[in-house]
Amino acid sequence: MNSINRRQFIQLLGGGSVLASSIGLVACSKQPSASARVVIVGGGFGGATCAKYLQRFDPDLDITLVEPKQKFVTCPFSNLVLGGMREMNSISHSYDAHTKRGIKVLHTSAREIDPAGKKVHLANGKTLEYDRLVVSPGIDFRWEDVEGMSSDDVEKLPHAWNGGPQTVTLRNQLTAMPDGGTVIIAPPANPFRCPPGPYERASMVANYLKQNKPRSKVLILDAKTKFSKQPLFMQGWEQLYGDMIEWVSGDAGGRISRVDIAGKTLYNELGEAHAGSVVNLIPPQKAGKIAHDAGLVDSSGWCPVDQRTFASTQHPDIHVIGDASLAGAMPKSGFAANSQGKVCAAAIVSALHNTTMPEPSYVNTCYSLVGPDYGISVAAVYRYAEDQGIYKVDGSGGVSPADADAEFRQKEARYTRGWYASITSDTWG
Ligand code: FAD
Repeated sequence: MNSINRRQFIQLLGGGSVLASSIGLVACSKQPSASARVVIVGGGFGGATCAKYLQRFDPDLDITLVEPKQKFVTCPFSNLVLGGMREMNSISHSYDAHTKRGIKVLHTSAREIDPAGKKVHLANGKTLEYDRLVVSPGIDFRWEDVEGMSSDDVEKLPHAWNGGPQTVTLRNQLTAMPDGGTVIIAPPANPFRCPPGPYERASMVANYLKQNKPRSKVLILDAKTKFSKQPLFMQGWEQLYGDMIEWVSGDAGGRISRVDIAGKTLYNELGEAHAGSVVNLIPPQKAGKIAHDAGLVDSSGWCPVDQRTFASTQHPDIHVIGDASLAGAMPKSGFAANSQGKVCAAAIVSALHNTTMPEPSYVNTCYSLVGPDYGISVAAVYRYAEDQGIYKVDGSGGVSPADADAEFRQKEARYTRGWYASITSDTWG
């Protein structure tokens, strides 16, 4: 077998990314991985990145990526589709690059995981055996948390919190609504996928309405009392959209307890009704279903892991990355999932080569567009400590300045587009 040596592995890690460049190997009793079998469930930001970097770190691995979709539609930039600034095909990514690299891509679902037998049973009837399994299934929804909410009614009330057909449904509802109507967006309580996402959505919807249906409103009924980049969003809203966007805090009637889907009406905890022309109720969330079925979650509904390696604390041969994992201070974002995918790949290759993995570092930046030429961001670098897990490095990153001028916001909008191009190329390219 033509396995890589330690020096080559370190070079590859160094070439992999900002994150990976901080990973080196402190000890080495090198053993070849003998074509170890690694199966990855989920080809989103976490899984697709992990598969690519596993192959890069050790080309001899036998890697299989299990993902039902032929093309992955990203949530990042799906808000721009809602606002009419992007088409669906520009946020859809194939797995051709993975296949070309020699990664086996199976377009089916993992039906059942057998941790004791180290097997994954697939929906197509086949079974995969693994030495290491990576699970990156994203999120599932807590339908039962809001009375009347149901997974059967997404055509009428699309949450569009996964990129795909619901993005199109919601866009069509926006284009069909009358001028003078109200779009209600109801974000869930923490923790949930993409903390700034609902507020970028409100911005992109307002941008569309301002140009096409200027008498309309966006009403945000929030389960929370504060939200990510709040002062920056609110400043931008006022500047770009006047009073078109109204935000209602959780303790001022924002928390939704009941929905009447046919009547497109949300009821808050006080019993007050809010009817909308378009209603975007974003359900509370938990780890993807397969993680629950495989016994990878704890009572929080998310997956506890060793945050240095992303090995599950329930089943150490299974790694959980991305939104499904409990990753300390890191937010549930595509960038975070990508970063975790690389750390996890390095941890697996280190373990298979019987080398010691030193402390990794992790990175995240969340850009949001408030308008087409108005970008804002929050960034941080994270490290790991045994007593606190993944923590934010003091003084790293930060949010965009409150007093920035129009040129600065325009530059950040450009960086937002650049970020999208580079992260999707890093993940699927
Ligand atoms: P996903 O990317 O969702 O991938 C999970 C994959 O697993 C899916 O493809 C699914 O088909 C597959 N899967 C599930 N179950 C199985 C199974 N049983 N068998 C096989 N496959 C399975 N993040 C950013 O960093 N920047 C942004 O600007 C940003 N904008 C966002 C905007 C919106 C509107 C939303 C909703 C999210 C946004 N995010 C953003 C967050 C980002 O989309 C998620 O954090 C990211 O997708 C998480 O990656 P993941 O791998 O955990 O899950």
